Amino acid sequence: MFVVRVVNKKLFLSNGPSCSLSSFKSSLSWWSGVEMGPPDAILGVTEAFKKDTSDKKMNLSVGAYRDDDGKPFILPCVMKAEEILSKKNLDKEYAGIAGVADFCQAAAKLAFGDSSPVIKEGLNATVQGISGTGSLTIGAHFLAQFFPGVKEIYMPTPTWGNHIPIFKRAGLTVKQYRYFDPKTCGFDFTGALQDLAKIPEKSIILLHACAHNPTGVDPKPEQWKEMSKVIKARNLFPFLDMAYQGFATGDIDRDAFALRMLVEDGHQVATAQSFAKNMGLYGERTGAFSVVCADKDEVARTMSQLKIIIRPIYSNPPIHGARIASTILNDPSLRSQWLTDIKVMSDRINTMRIKLKEGLKREGSSRSWDHITDQIGMFCFTGMTPDQVERLIKEFSVYLTKDGRISVAGVSSKNVDYLAHAIHQVTK
Ligand code: PMP
Repeated sequence: MFVVRVVNKKLFLSNGPSCSLSSFKSSLSWWSGVEMGPPDAILGVTEAFKKDTSDKKMNLSVGAYRDDDGKPFILPCVMKAEEILSKKNLDKEYAGIAGVADFCQAAAKLAFGDSSPVIKEGLNATVQGISGTGSLTIGAHFLAQFFPGVKEIYMPTPTWGNHIPIFKRAGLTVKQYRYFDPKTCGFDFTGALQDLAKIPEKSIILLHACAHNPTGVDPKPEQWKEMSKVIKARNLFPFLDMAYQGFATGDIDRDAFALRMLVEDGHQVATAQSFAKNMGLYGERTGAFSVVCADKDEVARTMSQLKIIIRPIYSNPPIHGARIASTILNDPSLRSQWLTDIKVMSDRINTMRIKLKEGLKREGSSRSWDHITDQIGMFCFTGMTPDQVERLIKEFSVYLTKDGRISVAGVSSKNVDYLAHAIHQVTK
């Protein structure tokens, strides 16, 4: 063992001679065995986009809403909430471990609905999380430690890329069920039901509550009901990732259908919410994790354990985004402004879907592009092959992920025709 000290850019090892930083041999480093990891699938695309000098370039890889000028959008309700908050001269003290209490309750109400028995009887154990990702992570750790059934979680194929490492790192075994049908670019309802029926009893099933990422394909209400029956028959525990409430249909209640129906059907569920997309609070990292309990005593015990999970990870969550979300959700006029803001975003996305489909037809494409308008939410799973994606990037400076997913939120009335042209050129 030796101690390293750095003085005037020189390294001093307590049991040997000094050497300059630049000549510090990698063989001496603690980290010489660290291998280069692959770049993040999405952020890697953005890096390549930044280097591209074409004035036609488009970045459709990142799931962030842009206005029709391609600019980031701060929701008007968020700006008003910030004004209200700044006038209150609030302090910057720590939140409790579970986060901003008003926010947690408002988030749970938004997910389950004001009139839900879960809310009325106080059966939700809810904690604030670091946006959707952090809320999923808290849930993953809670399940890994306390879920009394099989420690396996079944996810749709495909699913959001981060789901798998989040749950694996928490110690759960990750398995998958059929979801997307490449032939129809739609929901593989039969395949999903068949796979669900084979999941070992008392396992966990991960569901995208709405606006499935990456496919933009959601089950219809009657399909959700059938799935609920199989989930009941297999005695599975449903964990709903609710990262896009309001973004699928533009209506927060319609987008909560799956979660609320499962609760009505008697499922004891968990959910992770994100306010990144529906309030545009991406960098504020605002989210919540809720788990439904049998009674208030169970809520208290569950809350105590959630806090024990959170404390060593980040101690307590950031307050600003939670205050904004709570102000919006708890003030009737701001809330109604928010519902309008969501509608503006989802309507613009839907208009781009229609325009893209029309543009492809105009270009002379003989393919069916119905899935562009059938799919919902931020993303469109175009069905393009990796080779076609590569051509789009190289020949047209249109950047997207290898799986052919485009963020429709990044398309505008100024570039939608160019996009249609480029897609037709590589798919004809
Ligand atoms: N779940 C899904 C399905 C998502 O698409 C995302 C965002 N891409 C998240 C969770 C989490 O996002 P965030 O941590 O930014 O809220």
